[in-house]
Amino acid sequence: MELPVPVAEPGPVRAEGLLLQCTYCDSEAMHKLAQILLPGLAAVCVDGTTGDLFRKPSAVAVDLRKEMVDYVTQRSDTFIADALIESEENQDQQNEMPEDPFEIVSVFMDDFSSTKRNIIGHVSGWLLSDSREDKIDDFVQEMEMTRFWPLERREAIAEVLLKNVDLKTKYHCPEKYETEERLADHKAQCSFRPVTCPNEGCRAKVSIRCMQDHDSACPFKILTCEQNCEKQLLRRDMDRHCVTVCPMRPMKCPFGCDSSFPERNLEQHCFDFLQPHLLKVLQVIHKKGFTVDGLKDRAVLLEKYDSDGKLAKSLDARSLTNVVKNLEAKMKGDDSS
Ligand SMILES: [Zn+2]
Ligand SMILES: [Zn+2]
Ligand SMILES: [Zn+2]
Ligand SMILES: [Zn+2]
Repeated sequence: MELPVPVAEPGPVRAEGLLLQCTYCDSEAMHKLAQILLPGLAAVCVDGTTGDLFRKPSAVAVDLRKEMVDYVTQRSDTFIADALIESEENQDQQNEMPEDPFEIVSVFMDDFSSTKRNIIGHVSGWLLSDSREDKIDDFVQEMEMTRFWPLERREAIAEVLLKNVDLKTKYHCPEKYETEERLADHKAQCSFRPVTCPNEGCRAKVSIRCMQDHDSACPFKILTCEQNCEKQLLRRDMDRHCVTVCPMRPMKCPFGCDSSFPERNLEQHCFDFLQPHLLKVLQVIHKKGFTVDGLKDRAVLLEKYDSDGKLAKSLDARSLTNVVKNLEAKMKGDDSS
């Protein structure tokens, strides 16, 4: 008589035959792991095609991606069992695998990569060379631009890898329950449960325990200007604001004084430093016609003559020069009349 075959249940993972395991994991760790998959693949593709005139990295990427994912997933599947055997064999603790999931997955990717290197890839020096780094960076960018391996798809793989190699359950929830109800109660409060970032415009789903870290880097967080101009703006716009439009951005005196000051103080500076600015402009206009004292007298005279204060309102050398020339013409006209 045949035994009834148990039907696989959809939904939560049945762990240890009876218990239902919480499926949540650390969103930031998953994200970080998903990030390293792309340069990992790029390295394999570059190493495998360097020196090959007929194949570019992009020509082998589809095949190598599948192979790499299969290889890394398979290694991660047996990771815990392998780690146990190894720790029994190597009592002296040498060659121990790292505990950090990112290092572990990097080791898997390196191992895979070393099986794919062509002859040039084995030439000493190549692996540490700058041109290899450049080629890998270029190919990562190319894959990002063509969305060859989108982040969402890498994250799905990263989630599996993370749960497999996270021996100390630092990055995924270890909780298991006997009933669906108890699991559901737990998941409603699980510290790994994903929530949407509350910052307007941000669509990131983040484990609640990572929310503080996310918030402190979230590009959509509203902050007050770093240079204290009192404007409120998104973190992602901060750098541009501070160097382009912020009234508090530092500027140098356009007349060449040594001082620098916030942009919005330019008018005040031009008002306070009218005399030295005038001297600089007069020196240029009159070249050698005056002594230093003569120029100073001239400056004082011009200020007196300037009944509507146009001199102090000139904010750069060109407009101050024009105002001075007009005043001098007027003075000359008054003298000769
Ligand atoms: Zn949980
Ligand atoms: Zn956010
Ligand atoms: Zn500002
Ligand atoms: Zn100045």
